[in-house]
Amino acid sequence: MKDSHIGRRKFIQYSAAGAAIATSSGNLLGADSTPLPQPTDRTEGSVTTQADVLVVGGGAAGTIAAIQAGRAGAKTVLIERGAQLGGTTTTGGVSFPGLFDAWGKQIIAGIGWELVKNSVELDGGNLPDFSKVPTRHWQNQVRVNQFLYAILAEEKCEQAGVKINYYEFPQAIIKTAQGWQVDCAGFGTQRRVLCKQLIDCTGGAEVVGMLHLPRLRDEERQPGSMLFKLDKANSPGRDGLDMLYVHGADSTNSRTVTAANLTGRKAVLAKVRATQKRLMHLQPETGFRESYRIRGETVITVDDYTSGRVFKDAVCYAFYPVDLHTRSGVKPKPLTRGTVPTIPLSALVPKGSRNIIVAGRCVSSDRLANSGLRVQASCMAMGQAAGATAALATQQKTTPIKVPLKDIREILTKHGAIIPNV
Ligand SMILES: Cc1cc2nc3c(=O)[nH]c(=O)nc-3n(C[C@H](O)[C@H](O)[C@H](O)COP(=O)(O)OP(=O)(O)OC[C@H]3O[C@@H](n4cnc5c(N)ncnc54)[C@H](O)[C@@H]3O)c2cc1C
Repeated sequence: MKDSHIGRRKFIQYSAAGAAIATSSGNLLGADSTPLPQPTDRTEGSVTTQADVLVVGGGAAGTIAAIQAGRAGAKTVLIERGAQLGGTTTTGGVSFPGLFDAWGKQIIAGIGWELVKNSVELDGGNLPDFSKVPTRHWQNQVRVNQFLYAILAEEKCEQAGVKINYYEFPQAIIKTAQGWQVDCAGFGTQRRVLCKQLIDCTGGAEVVGMLHLPRLRDEERQPGSMLFKLDKANSPGRDGLDMLYVHGADSTNSRTVTAANLTGRKAVLAKVRATQKRLMHLQPETGFRESYRIRGETVITVDDYTSGRVFKDAVCYAFYPVDLHTRSGVKPKPLTRGTVPTIPLSALVPKGSRNIIVAGRCVSSDRLANSGLRVQASCMAMGQAAGATAALATQQKTTPIKVPLKDIREILTKHGAIIPNV
């Protein structure tokens, strides 16, 4: 028997059930050699999906929002334009989520912490001791293996009944009597999602922008960063990556993201040439620190943030220094001892909106407050709060801002989250 025959047989044997191979004549054959249907026209890829909750964006906030909505009993769909979950944590390579603790105590737990903890445990890593107050704020960030984290996030979504759709993004959104009709595009796919509640976790509040709801954006934005490693191979979950600033990085659309990636990669190439070191690791996309934020029913100011204002409608804590990166670098301003900021439900709800809520770095806040609020543990806590609220809104046939706080806090507590004392 010729090698090529053995190779071909093995290939068929190892291909997953339902997988297809192409013959030299271009026909598609299933693993059992039966012809598969050929796509005839563009309508082949048109699908309609019914959901209670549609989450757009599967980063730190969106993954947790979707899992929480699913665990709360909502039929949940997640649309992600990329190829995996995790967003900045995984695709951007910022695989050191924080901060889950403040002043010697854990202040953010729930589903985000469960995912982080499980990732570290499966990877044989170490968790920080939250009873110790670190001398530098970043010491209690948790190093996760970005690859494992992304796979575990998928597993948890699946277990919660969340349907994930990669490579798709909304193109048109129309209000309906029941909620929303969201037309999404992917390659070879046109998906119409009919849902009751929307959760915008795109980082830059893209869905809110499509609906022409108010957003905030400053003339100057923090740089993004391209993460890479020279010379030494990256050991995921253990080492930090190197990073260089990508000034002007903007996550607003495919054109601005392309520009940031080209700029970042050029800078890495220049570094390789200048240092004569080998490039051992490069993240596929720039990490973006800042773009649009929503103008919510409440805008969190830097005074609210640094004074640890306890909002009456607080749904979670946040903790990080005020951390604004500029062209001359960053000088984090730590919070005064004992201060733990809170995030109100009304900062997750776009002003004047119905049936939509956001979570993540696009939280309604001024620029300085946002420089602290944008970190991953806080995004996860917001995501859990948004997921719980959206699920309850579908069950109670109401809009997120009208869901009783008592019900939101009850469901969050049931799912392990820590609620501020109000
Ligand atoms: C270089 C850098 C260093 C940082 N350092 C830290 C740190 O030390 N510790 C820390 O905790 N945080 C840090 N942060 C901040 C933190 O990582 C981010 O603010 C946080 O991860 C944002 O989470 P998110 O869910 O709001 O957005 P993202 O993580 O950006 O997720 C948004 C997701 O939405 C998807 N998406 C966007 N638009 C669409 C669309 N139209 N349709 C479908 N999908 C869409 C994206 O592909 C992405 O997966 C850092 C950030 C950067 C860039």
